[in-house]
Amino acid sequence: MTQHIGIIGAGLAGLTAAQSLRAAGLRVTLFEKSRGLGGRMSTRRVDGLQFDHGAQYFTARGAAFKAQVEAWRISGAAAPWFEESYVGAPGMTAPSRALGDGLEAVTARTATRLVRNSGFWRVDDAEGPIEAPGNGAFNSLIVAVPAPQAQTLLAGAGVELPGLSAARYAPCWALMLAFDEAHKHVASRIKPDEGAISWIARDSDKPGRRSDKETWVVHASPDWTREHIKLTPDEARAALLERFVALTGISAPPAYMSAHRWLYALVEQAAGAPYLWNSQMQIGACGDWCIGPRVEAAFDSGRAMAEMVLSQAQNA
Ligand SMILES: Cc1cc2nc3c(=O)[nH]c(=O)nc-3n(C[C@H](O)[C@H](O)[C@H](O)COP(=O)(O)OP(=O)(O)OC[C@H]3O[C@@H](n4cnc5c(N)ncnc54)[C@H](O)[C@@H]3O)c2cc1C
Repeated sequence: MTQHIGIIGAGLAGLTAAQSLRAAGLRVTLFEKSRGLGGRMSTRRVDGLQFDHGAQYFTARGAAFKAQVEAWRISGAAAPWFEESYVGAPGMTAPSRALGDGLEAVTARTATRLVRNSGFWRVDDAEGPIEAPGNGAFNSLIVAVPAPQAQTLLAGAGVELPGLSAARYAPCWALMLAFDEAHKHVASRIKPDEGAISWIARDSDKPGRRSDKETWVVHASPDWTREHIKLTPDEARAALLERFVALTGISAPPAYMSAHRWLYALVEQAAGAPYLWNSQMQIGACGDWCIGPRVEAAFDSGRAMAEMVLSQAQNA
C-alpha cells in the first residue's frame, strides 16, 4: 500500500520535502497553521499594498537549489534582484505557491499534539484530531517548523531528537512603510553595520511589484529586537520609524505603517545535521535551523529529510 506521510509546517522545508516525496510516489499531507503557504518567505498584503516582511531575497550556492531557482525563474515565480540574489515574483510567497501546487494541504490549523497509535501517527489541534485527506493515519511524520516549536510538539509525543535543542534563532522586529511620493534619491538598499537597524529595502523596487506607492521594509538588528522584544507593535513602529528617518532622511509622513515581530527570524546556531530522524518512531524534523540562516538551507534540509523518509519507505 502507498505510504502516507504527514508534514507539519508548509514553509520552504516542508514544501520541498512534500514535493520530493510526492514525486517519488508517496502520498503526502501538509498541515499549516497559517492560511497561506510559505512560512517566513512571506508577503503581507494590506490596503492594496504588499510587503516582503520576512525573507528579503535568496541566493543559490548548491546545484540542487540553483536548478530549483532556475525553474522558478523560467515560470516567473522568481526574478533576479541585485547581484546574485533573487526574489519571489510578484511577491516572496510566489515560489512556495508554485511548490505547493497539487499538494494536499490542510491550512489554518495549528498542530498541537502528535499521537502514535498502532504504528500510525495522527495530528491533533486544540479541538482534537484534524480532519485530513485519507484517513488521517500516517506511516511517518515530518515536523518542519522552527526548532523551539518542533521541540514542544515532539516532547508532547514523547520523542527526543538529539541536537534539536542546540538550534537558536535571532528575533526580528520588521517595520513596513508606504509613502505617496517616491524618494528616488535614497538608495534602494541600506545595510548599516551596527545599531538598531540591520536592513532597509525599498520593497516596491523589487522586480514584478506593481504599486502606486513607494513601500519600504525595515528590519531591526537582533540585539535591538532582543532588548525591545516586549514592545507593543505601536511602540516598535514609532521607535523604528525614528531610526528610518535618521538613516534615509525621508521625513514625509507615511501613508501606511505597521510592525511585525518575528520571534524566530534568522538561525544563529544551527543543529549541524541536515535533518533529525528517529527511525523507531518514524518521525523526523527539518528546517533552516538544521543548516543555517538561509532560504537555501530550508530547501536543502527538506530535500535531505525526504530522501531519508523515502529510503525508510522503500525498506518497509
Ligand atoms: C525577518 C526575516 C528576514 C529574513 N531574511 C532572509 C534573507 O534575506 N535571505 C534568506 O535566505 N533567508 C532569510 N530569512 C530566513 C528564511 O526566511 C528562512 O530560512 C526560511 O524561509 C525558513 O523556512 P522553513 O521552512 O525552515 O521555516 P518556516 O518558513 O518558518 O516554515 C515553518 C512553517 O510551519 C508553520 N507552523 C509552525 N508551527 C506550526 C504548527 N504547530 N502547526 C502547523 N504549522 C505550523 C509556520 O506557520 C510556517 O509556515 C529571513 C527570515 C526572517 C523572518
